[in-house]
Amino acid sequence: MDYDGLGLKAGLEIHQQLDTKRKLFCNCPTELKNSSESTYEICRHLQVAESELGEIDKAALEESQVKRCFIYKGYDTTCLVENDEEPPGPLNPDAIDIALEIALLLGMTPVDEIHTMRKIVIDGSNTSGFQRTSFVASGGKISMGETIIHIDTLCLEEEAAQKISEDNQGVVYSLDRLGIPLVEITTSPEAKTPDQVCSIAKWIGMILRSTGKVKRGIGTIRQDINVSIAKGARIEMKGVQTLGMIEEIIEREVLRQVNLLNIRDELRDRGFKKTVGEIVDVSNLFDNIQSSIIKKPLKKDVVLAVKLPSFRGLVGREIQPGRRFFDELSDKLKRFSRGTFHTDDLPNVIGDAQIAKIRKKIGACSSDCLVLMVDEESRARYALNLAIQRANDALEGIPEETRRALPDGNSTYMRPLPGAARMYPETDVLPVQISGERLAKIKSSLPELTSERKGRYIREYGLNEDLAELIACSERSALFESIMSLGATPTLVVRTLTATLSELDKEGIPVQHLNDDHFIEVFEMVSANKMAKEGIPEVLRILANKPSKTASIASSELGLENMGKEDIEKLIIQVIEFKKGLIKERGPDALKPLMGLVMKRARGKVDGKLVSKILKEKIEEFMEV
Ligand SMILES: [Zn+2]
Repeated sequence: MDYDGLGLKAGLEIHQQLDTKRKLFCNCPTELKNSSESTYEICRHLQVAESELGEIDKAALEESQVKRCFIYKGYDTTCLVENDEEPPGPLNPDAIDIALEIALLLGMTPVDEIHTMRKIVIDGSNTSGFQRTSFVASGGKISMGETIIHIDTLCLEEEAAQKISEDNQGVVYSLDRLGIPLVEITTSPEAKTPDQVCSIAKWIGMILRSTGKVKRGIGTIRQDINVSIAKGARIEMKGVQTLGMIEEIIEREVLRQVNLLNIRDELRDRGFKKTVGEIVDVSNLFDNIQSSIIKKPLKKDVVLAVKLPSFRGLVGREIQPGRRFFDELSDKLKRFSRGTFHTDDLPNVIGDAQIAKIRKKIGACSSDCLVLMVDEESRARYALNLAIQRANDALEGIPEETRRALPDGNSTYMRPLPGAARMYPETDVLPVQISGERLAKIKSSLPELTSERKGRYIREYGLNEDLAELIACSERSALFESIMSLGATPTLVVRTLTATLSELDKEGIPVQHLNDDHFIEVFEMVSANKMAKEGIPEVLRILANKPSKTASIASSELGLENMGKEDIEKLIIQVIEFKKGLIKERGPDALKPLMGLVMKRARGKVDGKLVSKILKEKIEEFMEV
């Protein structure tokens, strides 16, 4: 796609959880629980209130039309603050320090005094009905090749409650995640290609991880992307889970906007003005319908229909791979209705004759499209009005909205773009002054960026690009450097700290119990030839299960002290005797399978190089006889 010609502009909003011990506004730990361990539940209903400026937010208003109940699961690790039964405590100073550190790394200017605001949230993800956000810094920039990308703002925020399940009646949330500190970093919409957005996200992610003070793992970082093209509209895309999806999501959003603009032009050509929007009850025409798709409506349900003039063929048109304009309408209606249909599709469902009857009753001509809705009357009417509104919007082009990214790269309507009416001051949290002294202290101990660290590892330890990247980005990079000072082999240490650990982890070994001392002792023993490197995984396995043990105890329990040369020779002679047929058959090629056999019998107690050398000699001797 010609992004330049289309005038693509995109920006990022990155949310990263901070790895503090305590939450942002209370002393609860920032650990996640299994929702089955919850010790209590609270149920709330959402009420829309005016903001203190007297405005009601569009997004909040729309949400309130859906009558829903929110259930919150609490734990022995949550308190009255998460329940919204006690006012928040002061901002966690550790979280402020980390936010300031990140701001400085991004070249931003911190504020003199941090003020906390309330941002209305309407989806129930916070028990208080708002999210607290504190503006920390602004005016940063990063250079991406020749382009400078500005970082507009950095805010410190409380993480929302985790959604566990959702149905028509309501949503179940878990309170363990609520209140974990996070930073929200917003870039200005200066990226001009999908690829550039991805690079910016990667770079900021690298800076965040460089601090060593952010949470790691799935769900601890989230990217929202805002996308627009010159003639289109600003769309905020939520819930982009992986960096790998960023490009696809932007490409498909641009495609959606281009196709919606084409539909707009076609509607204008067809002379479509605005839908009158008369909603007609056509229930009686459905009394005898036999269809697996339109079930016989429930007793209290009605079938309402509305015509969208000049829309024939357009409602069924594809705007993203596998998504049609009708999905734009039905996304908005879904939460209200049990069944929505349109006449670009219906002939396959109820037959042309039936459609003709409906068309006649509602006074539609052949160039119109009908949308039908099956539900309780008030819900159906409300939903159809939304459909009418969306159809009318199609004449303008593209409505600005917040959308949710789908796993395939498409997206679905979430809510209108929230306005400024969403924010007002949080009076329960006092402002925090940021002294020059505090900033200077943070400035003087800024971490090395992982990109710089990687380069240093390549230079200092001769690691290749991949291994250097792996360990430089790892949370064990400091441990790696400590071990290297013992004179260990760099590649062995990297592999142990990355691949070996993840293999043990996959086996279900509790590798999180391993501490730095364990690793240092293991490598001390290997460096001093007290243990063969082949024995490392076995020793780590024991230490992870019994962290109070030392590596030397574990290795002697396993009988892992290195075998003497004599014992190795003895073992090799046994193996050769046992496999002499193989040697006769394959000659020197028998080395590899025999090597495997010896190593297996020695169970990590020998050095592979030594075994290979002796084995080669012994095979040669055997063949000479
Ligand atoms: Zn708490």
